[in-house]
Amino acid sequence: MNRVVIVGGGPGGYESALVAAQAGAEVTVVDTDGLGGSAVLTDCVPSKTLIATSELMIELSGSSELGVNFQDTEGDAATSIRVDLSRVNQRVKQLATDQSADILRRLEREDVRIVRGRGRLEGPQRVVATLDDGSEERFDADAVLIATGAAPRTLPSAVPDGERILTWEQVYDITEVPEKLVVVGSGVTGAEFASAYLSLGIDVTLVSSRDRVLPGEDADAAGVLEEVLKRRGMKVLSRSRMESVTRSGDVVTVRLTDGTEVEASHCILALGSVPNTSDLGLDEAGVRLKDGGFVGVDRVSRTTARGVYAAGDCTGVLMLASVAAMQGRIAMQHHLGDAVLPLDLKKVSSNVFTSPEIATVGWTQQAVDAGEIQAEVVMLPLSGNPRAKMQGVRDGFVKLVCRPGTGIIVGGVVVGPRASELIHPVAVAVGESLTADQLAGVFTVYPSMTGSIAEAARRLHRV
Ligand SMILES: Cc1cc2nc3c(=O)[nH]c(=O)nc-3n(C[C@H](O)[C@H](O)[C@H](O)COP(=O)(O)OP(=O)(O)OC[C@H]3O[C@@H](n4cnc5c(N)ncnc54)[C@H](O)[C@@H]3O)c2cc1C
Repeated sequence: MNRVVIVGGGPGGYESALVAAQAGAEVTVVDTDGLGGSAVLTDCVPSKTLIATSELMIELSGSSELGVNFQDTEGDAATSIRVDLSRVNQRVKQLATDQSADILRRLEREDVRIVRGRGRLEGPQRVVATLDDGSEERFDADAVLIATGAAPRTLPSAVPDGERILTWEQVYDITEVPEKLVVVGSGVTGAEFASAYLSLGIDVTLVSSRDRVLPGEDADAAGVLEEVLKRRGMKVLSRSRMESVTRSGDVVTVRLTDGTEVEASHCILALGSVPNTSDLGLDEAGVRLKDGGFVGVDRVSRTTARGVYAAGDCTGVLMLASVAAMQGRIAMQHHLGDAVLPLDLKKVSSNVFTSPEIATVGWTQQAVDAGEIQAEVVMLPLSGNPRAKMQGVRDGFVKLVCRPGTGIIVGGVVVGPRASELIHPVAVAVGESLTADQLAGVFTVYPSMTGSIAEAARRLHRV
């Protein structure tokens, strides 16, 4: 029987375990922290659960426009509603634990062997697991998958204390609502937390080293988000590089390189991630690392060592749970001789869970502007959409990127509430190489936000 050993039980690891087990392999998963990995226990699932509460607050804040007033208040309802952060955090942690347990049960049903311990390679075909009691177990393998993920980056000048200076993994342990919060880092993670806590009614300052928030995203989308966040009262310090974060009693001081100091009660550090690739025996097994310590892989997840695959954040290919899972599935399909389509990053849809959300797929306007691909771009604001008007939605747009000549849709952006759901028809069009006319020809519900996607596609029609 084919023996597969997986190191790391996050989406990269557990999804590949399912594929390998279903194909009849004997599968072992070695994991330190609990199944689901950071994705389930500290990153995606907790942050999106917190954001579910913040979304409710956003909806409540718009209630008076839709004719709903709370009896004891006038005007903006959300200002008079208090969030019980300790209950929110309790719910977040419970949901994460339950989901991890669900994944464990699912893997056990597929007869996957789960080993709680720290794994490392002993050559390309053997994994040694150091168990909690210090003992070691060895597992021979026909194929090994490394899916050890990544951890929050910290700096010697900004050391988290788990109480007031926090990484994104530590925020769910705070029980009191922060009086004033500084979020350092305006990438996806920083923007999501800043947006979420702002919606919970907290005074938030976002420190961004670049010109604008979300420097890696569509510029129009980032512009809409920044405008909305400022309108809701967030202070955004752009072109501001953090030098240090220190704490004295209850006061946290964020010092910027220009000498400015920002005081707050709490600070969240969102400075990116570093891969968990040290002490894994990778070099000795012939697995080459790239810059930054990421494991180098090709599009079917092979490393430089025969029989050793890698998936997920430890490869730094695209740090998303969905990509980790796909890389893992592809690795197993390749190893087990199943039909396999190499990873295509131009088909990945992703979402920034701010308010409004920003969802993207495929080629970007930035690539079009830089001449990397010839394409036409249309952008349609959501403010003209009848459903948006009914729901009081003013901010957001649909953007489609389309090849001239063939009319094939190669990319898109949706900014608005639930953009993560609305991007799906665009992702199908990109994934299946549909033309703008084909997308425009599909019925949409009237009235619906998806009507704007069809309308944008109609604007790309050429006779
Ligand atoms: C705040 C935040 C929010 C996010 N939200 C989203 C989102 O909404 N959608 C999305 O698609 N992505 C999201 N991501 C990204 C997503 O969390 C990662 O891309 C995903 O977790 C990667 O999965 P993975 O399997 O590579 O690693 P992980 O989920 O990190 O799992 C790796 C596992 O390996 C274990 N491990 C490490 N070393 C060893 C070892 N030596 N032996 C055994 N086990 C080991 C770890 O303990 C961990 O359990 C978010 C990230 C952050 C930081």
